[in-house]
Amino acid sequence: MPGIAFGWSDDGHRHLLPGRLRVAVDGLMRNAHLGGLIVRQVAGQPGVRRVAANPWTGRVLVTFAQGQVTPCELERLILLAAGAGQVAAGREPMPVAGVSTGETPGAAPEPPAGTAWHALPLEALIRTLDTATPRGLPEVEAARRLELFGPNQLRAARQAALSEVVLRQLKNPITLLLLGAGGVSLAVAQWLEGIAALGIAGVTTYMAVRQESRATHALGALSKLAAPRAVVVRGGRPLALPAELVVPGELIILEEGDRVPADARLVFSAALQVDESALTGESCPAVKDPALHCCSPATPLADRHNMVYAGTVVTSGRAQALVVATGMATEVGKVAALLEEGSREVTPLQRRLQQLARWMFWGILGIGAAGTAMGVARGLPLGAALAQSVSVAVSAMPQGLPVTVTIALSTAVTRLAEQGAMTRRLGAMESLGATTVICTDKTGTITCNRLSVREVQVAGARWALGNEADLLRDGAPAVPDGPLIAALEAAALCNNARLVGDGAMLRAEGDATEGALLLAARRVGIDPTTLQAKYPRLHETPFSAGERRMSVVCQTDGGPALYVKGAPETVLPMCSRWLGPSGGEALTGAARREQLAAAEAMAARGMRVLALAWRPQDQPVFPAANGFIFLGFAGMVDAPRPGAQPAIARCREAGIRVLMLTGDHPATAAAVAREVGILGPAGLVLTGPQLDAMTDSELAAAADQLAVCARVAPEHKLRVVRILKGQGHVVAMTGDGVNDAPALQAADTGIAMGIAGTDVTRGAANLVLTDDDFTAIVMAVEQGRSAYANIRRALTYSLTTNGGEALMALLPLAVGLALPVPAAMLLITNMLCDGLVSLSLATDQPEPGVMARPPRPLGEPVLGRGTVGAVAVRGAAIGLSTVGLYTAGLAMTGLPAVGYSMALAGLVAAKLCFAWQVRRRSLDGSVVA
Ligand code: ADP
Ligand code: MG
Repeated sequence: MPGIAFGWSDDGHRHLLPGRLRVAVDGLMRNAHLGGLIVRQVAGQPGVRRVAANPWTGRVLVTFAQGQVTPCELERLILLAAGAGQVAAGREPMPVAGVSTGETPGAAPEPPAGTAWHALPLEALIRTLDTATPRGLPEVEAARRLELFGPNQLRAARQAALSEVVLRQLKNPITLLLLGAGGVSLAVAQWLEGIAALGIAGVTTYMAVRQESRATHALGALSKLAAPRAVVVRGGRPLALPAELVVPGELIILEEGDRVPADARLVFSAALQVDESALTGESCPAVKDPALHCCSPATPLADRHNMVYAGTVVTSGRAQALVVATGMATEVGKVAALLEEGSREVTPLQRRLQQLARWMFWGILGIGAAGTAMGVARGLPLGAALAQSVSVAVSAMPQGLPVTVTIALSTAVTRLAEQGAMTRRLGAMESLGATTVICTDKTGTITCNRLSVREVQVAGARWALGNEADLLRDGAPAVPDGPLIAALEAAALCNNARLVGDGAMLRAEGDATEGALLLAARRVGIDPTTLQAKYPRLHETPFSAGERRMSVVCQTDGGPALYVKGAPETVLPMCSRWLGPSGGEALTGAARREQLAAAEAMAARGMRVLALAWRPQDQPVFPAANGFIFLGFAGMVDAPRPGAQPAIARCREAGIRVLMLTGDHPATAAAVAREVGILGPAGLVLTGPQLDAMTDSELAAAADQLAVCARVAPEHKLRVVRILKGQGHVVAMTGDGVNDAPALQAADTGIAMGIAGTDVTRGAANLVLTDDDFTAIVMAVEQGRSAYANIRRALTYSLTTNGGEALMALLPLAVGLALPVPAAMLLITNMLCDGLVSLSLATDQPEPGVMARPPRPLGEPVLGRGTVGAVAVRGAAIGLSTVGLYTAGLAMTGLPAVGYSMALAGLVAAKLCFAWQVRRRSLDGSVVA
């Protein structure tokens, strides 16, 4: 059927007849409002005859004029309208995090009238945008355009109004109680008490509002740091920038895992696939290629193979593209202004404490009622009885408790940021603190990611490049020979890194593995830039973690040639000959085994080994997977990070296991794991294929011994997370590639790399490491544990002292005595003393022993049995001693004022002593000894 887009099929979600289209829309079920919105949006479109949305079936039916509009275009319109409707209703913002919020940008450049960006010939597009493709915009011009068109951001999301925040705080049960108590006191003419209670309600609300805005602010600043970046070409140099600085006419570079920063027209692509589901609802990745010339101005968005759109994700391949629209002018910008994600999160701990507060609310009301009843029973007038019991209720109130939790968590978040890890969620601190297994990758996290080629094995000779001064061939100084040059030329051609600077400042940018190869080529006298210019690239199959190899076709003097580099087990099977000491030789079974053994031996010395091969591109079939000539191996080392070993030792002490999951060779991985202490004598090393061969139960049985998983693909990571979680573990998992996102989401804490990571993993993770350093993970766990311990301390303190005060107030009431401390005084001391003590307990530094005990069980009650007992005993002691002091003071002097003074002094002293005890002795946060 004409006009049906790539990947378009008749399935359960859509049904197509000539002139009739029925589409299922998520969220339409039982939502007549959304239905109305969709109908209004779609009905006015050209070619549409009738639209009906059915909130009972969740489907939209459109009849349309064939030839005037394609079903694809229609479906997109429907889904866009649905998305916009849901965003407007604040239900479910569309998952487009590619663009952050900001002020309104200016106008956007326009394509010539009657055409569209995707339909213009490329030359005309370049002219319209006034840019130069290979060199990109000059800096000055980019700055001018940024001024002109505004930043590449979507319009600011609605900020929660102050009144809303205040209202939310006022709804807090404790504040409600205070307000009630204040009201009752005023009603019975207890002016001082009434004003104090209302004043305190005001102060705590103010503090809570301030705290919330500070926490939001801190988290907002952190998400900025984790926001998408773009790689652009300016003045001929690639440059990594925050995505908001991208301007129209900019030349951008896209790679696997990138979020497309703006709408752009492709000028070059290699095996590019883009997930456009955020815009089109199409879940299969779309194949993109500037050469696929299919576009007329009317081509629907989903069919524009030569365009990429802001907010979509590159799932594989590489590309260069020219930006045509930024910010609100992009397709996603046209849909709707998006709300910031996760505006206000309630963490599980906060939820449990809110529940506790609710119980307290009823408990305190109960106490108040009991107090009133007792007063009336003793013959007091109702007003006086009420006044007394209000004092009782007020004294039992833990005013600062709800704020304390937010303060403790957001303090931990801020401290973490200083130590090189960022999170956007307060809740991340809770699961971090309970972590029992950390699954980490190797390159960059455990190691420095500063690879350098140490050794090259070619034609039966072993070249050592380790020594800066000279080149050794089988141990003796030598000049580079033909086979060595051939191997490293292949490495330099099949390469996307680049060298910058010169002399002593020479360094590589881009992928560390590829950079190391470029530097090695340079060492033997090859100039990669000149070589790449001499043999221009015709085609590229980018590196993928699944295939573990990369290949290119280049135009050489002798015609097109294919170069490949990758893991030895994947490259050697593609070779039929090898470059031996006497030229090309057949790669027989024995020679093949010998070569694999050589690679194995290099890997066992901790080196990452890449095989290099080439073949003439004489057949039209592409990509060829056999008939290659094997050129040699390059072995590179990557030293462990200096902090890795101690950090892993700390994990062990803290009862946390560390598992290494890497795409590298098992021997390489094992060597590094042994060096940093992940792999002990009893530890198990498994490879991806071995994992595949095991059933879930076999794997679960082996999980206890497992230390290293090598040659893993992203799906193995997901499986390991599932198995470990099934065993009750709390799992933190690192990842960098686009395919790691599911594993990160499945883990309790998904950790992404700030430097090496992709936008997608950073979006999926709830912790981002600024420096990719393993040590930061361990510090994050420590902060998480300490935040939890601090909250428990503050809670213990608050419950104990307030319980004591309730007893102190209730006891005299029962026997008809006066209150030992007048209510207004009590309120004020509570405010000053408890407020400050809780605050300092909540923000205490991690104590030294916090990483010397096993992880806490995740579902553990906030207060253990032991704590509840201890709270009761100490609360009783505080309450009784205060009553005793008052009675003694009164008895000795007959003056209530002396009684009050003694009681108050005793109460404050007892509270402060108790605070000190909570801090010093309940070091494990569980039992107050
Ligand atoms: P890691 O888990 O250490 O990050 P990778 O997935 O990056 O591992 O790499 C896995 C394997 O793929 C490496 O051992 C190497 O053999 C191969 N490889 C890595 N980078 C490249 C590259 N740029 N080109 C070709 N092959 C590569
Ligand atoms: Mg890697």
